[in-house]
Formats: sequence, structure tokens, C-alpha cells
Amino acid sequence: MQVICKGVHIVNTHFTFHKGIRTIGGTIIELAEDGYRLIFDMGRGFAPGAPGFDHDLQPRDIRDLQRLDIAPKLPGVFDDASESDGKTLIAVSHMHLDHMGFFPYLREDVPVLLTHDSLRLLQGLDAVHDGPRRSLSFVPVSYDEPYTFGPFTIEALAVDHDCPGACAFLITTGDLRFVYSGDLRLHGSHPEWTRTFALRARDFRPDVLFIEGTRAEADDNSTTIAEPELAGRIAATVQAHAGGAYLLFYPRHPERVASFMQAANACGRQLVLQPHSAYLFEHMGGQLENVRLYGGMAKSWTEHLTAWVRKRGLDVIHPNELAGHEHSFLVEITYPQLVDFVDIEPARDGVFMHVGGTPLGAYDPAWHNLMHWLDIFGLAFASLGSTGHGSRSDILSIAETIAPSVLMPIHSHHPERIGLTSVRRIMPAYHRVYSREDILRASFPAQSELAPDES
Ligand SMILES: [Zn+2]
Ligand SMILES: [Zn+2]
Repeated sequence: MQVICKGVHIVNTHFTFHKGIRTIGGTIIELAEDGYRLIFDMGRGFAPGAPGFDHDLQPRDIRDLQRLDIAPKLPGVFDDASESDGKTLIAVSHMHLDHMGFFPYLREDVPVLLTHDSLRLLQGLDAVHDGPRRSLSFVPVSYDEPYTFGPFTIEALAVDHDCPGACAFLITTGDLRFVYSGDLRLHGSHPEWTRTFALRARDFRPDVLFIEGTRAEADDNSTTIAEPELAGRIAATVQAHAGGAYLLFYPRHPERVASFMQAANACGRQLVLQPHSAYLFEHMGGQLENVRLYGGMAKSWTEHLTAWVRKRGLDVIHPNELAGHEHSFLVEITYPQLVDFVDIEPARDGVFMHVGGTPLGAYDPAWHNLMHWLDIFGLAFASLGSTGHGSRSDILSIAETIAPSVLMPIHSHHPERIGLTSVRRIMPAYHRVYSREDILRASFPAQSELAPDES
């Protein structure tokens, strides 16, 4: 909104939460000023209990997602009948589906700001796996280099998360300064990125900090596996079993492949990777060593992937060739490939490790089916993921360092648990229009408000 007052140009930023306050992901926040809009992120929240759409029942277009209240109604943003205003910028913190899942529905003429690493990952996903395959108007930016759009200046800062290119944003408007944390952690391989972000954000003296609270229920890191520990944990698990060793993971975190190579070496086994995982690892700068490719479901490979496999000349091993030789390998397998166990007929004393990937956890019905399959084929189960999200104590220490005027927790099933008695807080509400006045009126939360379920 713009107010002209006795010749003085006064600008006034308003902001609104469209999605993703009380869900894990799908956060969509809009800042508006002087007819311009800055919207971040553009993801689809994951709701396995009430998905609305599933594998068989698919949306035809954005209208279907809006009708079921899965996507917000944002005129001029989606590929619907609304007109583009030329004054809207979308900014996206990282390439997880809960932050970019609406890319297939965006207008191609709306600029989408993201880091160079995010764009590189997206291009890799498009080539071989499950990218959105849309030619959007991407605006790739370098870390620490401010970008100006209308009244907004936005700067991407690297944070550690289980996805390359992940960043937080520092945003300056006419009358306010915002920090958006994106998703982040302190127990990854690059905690210094997150720490440096927190210090830069503190120096920025933000009015508002939007911070994620995915693991609001995990008080500390007592149950957290740190990313650098993964190789050792996987190797120890494999060494405790004489049979086959299988792992499931999310290929959007290619850096983790290095831990798998390390674990396989330590156990004297050869790593067998899904071709798309191997491709993405190399595409993002990794060096494949002593790796074979899994030949199951080759019909589903994209043309680009098939050409890469041929050009790369890596040995391909088919599921039936694993039968009787499982003890020589550490094998990445996907959920749809569980059927390959029928051909492999796993030997006794094998193990299946969940190191991330879908199904994500017990809240997903496919999880129970996974357990059923492992039971039928006599494979032990081990959960060895290193989560991409900081524990409550780590998130609070980041918030304490940043010391914003007001904290607004998002991306959480328990946002009320994300807060400090020393920092003013506003619990965000959907569709309410906030402005500077709300920040000035905010109050400090009482201890009892920070953990209402414990009092
Ligand atoms: Zn997320
Ligand atoms: Zn994420």
C-alpha cells in the first residue's frame, strides 16, 4: 500500500500467510508493497492422512488443487485464467517438494528466484528423475548477493539442510526487514553455513523472523544422527549382517552418496546405486568411485539417463544377478523395486536401512506396507536417516542468536513450542494482513505458552 502524505512518500509493507503454518512444509508467505508482491516459497504440504489426490486420483490443473484448499488462490501466479501483473516475484529457498511442489502450475512469465545450486539440482532432476519439467522464468542468484525487485531487496544466504542449494532469505522492504529461515539444521556436514547465516541475520537486525519448527517435539539432539556419523553407522549395521544390505534414500540429497561409498568401502562391499542417484551425485560435483548401477526398471529411465549410463560405461547389475551374491554388495533400492526381492530371494541375515526417502515415516500408509514386505523376505530393518531439520533446542539457539524484534514460527505441527520468553512473538494466522503496527504491538510469550502440552 502506498500513502502520499504532504509530498512525503510513505511506504507500508503488508504480509500474509497463505499456507504452511501448522503443516510440515507448504509454507507460502506474501509480502506486498506499492503494488508489488514477493512470495516465498511455492511448495505443496505433504498430507498422507488426507491427501485429497493420490496415485490414482490426480489433479487436472491448479483449479482442482485450489478447490480442495491444497493450493492458495493467488491471482496472476498460477497457470489459470488470471492476468500477470508484472510486479510479482516468487522466491524459493530449496528444491524439496514441500517448497517447490507447485512449480508445474506456475505461469511461465512470473520470475522465480532461487540459488544457482538449486537451479542446477532442478535441471538434473528434470533430466533424469522427477523434476517439474517446466521452462519457468528462473532468476538464479549467488549467495550473499542482494537482488532488487521493485521495493524489495532479497539476499540468499547458504544454510545446511539435506538438499543442495538450500538458503535462507534476508529481505528489506520500504519499512521492514524480514528473515526467512527456510529449512535448516546444525547437525549436518556444514553447520558453519547455518551459524554464519544466524550471525549475518543478527547483524541485519530484522523486524520479523519466520523460522521453521519441524522438530518442535524433539527437545534436543539425543535421538539425532548427525550427517557426518552416517557412513560409520551404515558400515556398522552392514557388518552386523552376513546377508544382503539394502538402503532407501532421497536422491535430492546427492551429497549423502559419498557416505554410502565410504560405508561400502569400509565393509569390503561394492556400492550399487540407482542410475538417477549416481547421475545426480555426479551432476552436483561428486566423484563416483567403485560404484555399479542397479539395472532394475530400466524401462522407466529417461532418454537422457539411458544415454548417460551408456556414455559413462559403469557396470550395471540386474536384480537376478544379485541372487546368491548379495553379501558382496550394498544396494540402493526404491519402494517400487521391492518386487525385485521376488527375483533376488534375499539370503538369511540381510538388512534394509531407511536413510531417508519415501515412504518417509510411520504416518505414511506405504510405511506399513514396506514393513510387510521386509517381514515376508526376512530382512531386518534399521532407521538411519539424518534429518534435515534442527531439534527444538537448535532452532531456539538460532532464534536467540538472530534476536529479531518479533519471531513468527511456521512449518510445524507445534509452532507454539518454538519461542523464547526473551523475544516477542506473534503466532501467525492464515489470511490475516499484518503490518508494522502488529510488530509494535507484539508481546513476550510466557513460559507456559511455549510448551502448553507440558504445563
Ligand atoms: Zn520443508
Ligand atoms: Zn526441506
